[in-house]
Amino acid sequence: MNSERAECGNLPLLLARLSHDLEQYQRFEFPDALNQLDQWRSALSIALPEEGVGIDQVLTELGRDVIPNGSQIPNPGCTSFITTGATTIGALATLAGAVASPQRIGVHAFNLLEEISLQWLMEMFELPPGLQGIYSSGGSVANLIALGAARQSAFERIGIDPAREGVNRPCRIYTTEASHHTILRAAAVLGMGRASVFNIPTDMSGCMLPEALQAQIKRDAGLEHLPVAIVANAGTTSCGAIDPLQALGRIAHAHGIWFHVDGAYGLPGILDPEVKPKYEGLQLADSVTVDPHKWLGAPVGIGATFVRDRALLHRAFTQEISDYLEGAFCDEQAKHSLDQPGYDYNDLGVELSAPSRGAVVWALIREIGKQGMAERVCRHNAMARSLAERAHAHPNLEVVQEPTLSICCFRYVDNKHPDLNALNHRIHRQMIHNGRAMPSTAMVNGILAIRPCFVGARTTWKHVDELIEEVVSIGQRFSA
Ligand SMILES: *Cc1c(COP(=O)(O)O)cnc(C)c1O
Repeated sequence: MNSERAECGNLPLLLARLSHDLEQYQRFEFPDALNQLDQWRSALSIALPEEGVGIDQVLTELGRDVIPNGSQIPNPGCTSFITTGATTIGALATLAGAVASPQRIGVHAFNLLEEISLQWLMEMFELPPGLQGIYSSGGSVANLIALGAARQSAFERIGIDPAREGVNRPCRIYTTEASHHTILRAAAVLGMGRASVFNIPTDMSGCMLPEALQAQIKRDAGLEHLPVAIVANAGTTSCGAIDPLQALGRIAHAHGIWFHVDGAYGLPGILDPEVKPKYEGLQLADSVTVDPHKWLGAPVGIGATFVRDRALLHRAFTQEISDYLEGAFCDEQAKHSLDQPGYDYNDLGVELSAPSRGAVVWALIREIGKQGMAERVCRHNAMARSLAERAHAHPNLEVVQEPTLSICCFRYVDNKHPDLNALNHRIHRQMIHNGRAMPSTAMVNGILAIRPCFVGARTTWKHVDELIEEVVSIGQRFSA
């Protein structure tokens, strides 16, 4: 008799049930989760089950209480933050990896796809050849890995191995206020401290001023601070602005400072010929990050870092030899997929156990190719530009920041209204409550802007029309 109570097979039947419920959800016709809050919260808030109920009942509860009350983020009208739902192949490949490749150990097809897909990302985004790629859970960890490499490089130059000895003097990371706060956190986690992050002045669009960077580096020359990195953005989170990469990269090289480009959101923008020139200088980067779980349509949990020097990355993040792996593999020609450990990604980042993210990225690109990705990026960028044009033409709309990529910061204006920030805040809340067009907001040079970011594969031109209609009609109602 089998003493295991958990179902470990029977996928076709059970998956068919789950897919039915997920398909219903993807019509985006369920009322928002908060409408039935009491109902699902009380259904789900039960004591630790002493006895199990079995997989059929679990699936029933998933389909009845959980999935219909899921997130609004995959809704095509949701243009909040920089996030979206996975495309179908992204979700399916994730499932495939969960079943057939629970780890990155050994020599097998999923692991090969980890290498191949990282290579494809490098080619697709025109990164310099020879970089070492590594996946992690997202932009936060991707930036941490990049800055870990930067820290290693800076300290080794003064004869210190920071991975072993820690950091022994104050550091400087040059960036701008427009940078993602994960840079601050990465500095904190890496022992350099949040205070090491120094914001260089920007122009009105949030782009770093190269002259100001140059001047600050000169000013800092007499200090004991160790310059660790210059962090530029290829697509800021608020507005999608792209820093002058060429100029900043040249300054970095001239001073021997690590040049990191955070392209978590915006790196795929290089696929749009209209903005491609802004990526000039990307080739100067010592490290680059991108989030496949943003514009590429992967399920959340996939970021990628590319670093110029593989050996350096290894010194920064190696786990060292461990007893529990001693003798687990053999040096001879492999005769079995478990004869060899597989690619040593676990020595290049901060994770050991990790899902197979490579197969997901491989599947996303394989499905629609570079061309399909480029079409999506161009469509979304065109949506932001079109929105800006229509806002310019409308007497009650104002563009707060001209779009570079697929983010358009704009607002409703009415000369008679005393507080436009408050008015736009109210308009935005009402939009969310209506649940049709759901952008987020951002403060841009003191102005509260309504901020749609188009990255969702499901978002179409119809949703751009709806967004404008909503802002105008709610604005007119509230200012009347
Ligand atoms: C989204 C974003 C991040 C953080 O990425 P997560 O995947 O959410 O951890 C970092 N940098 C930039 C520029 C981003 O847009």
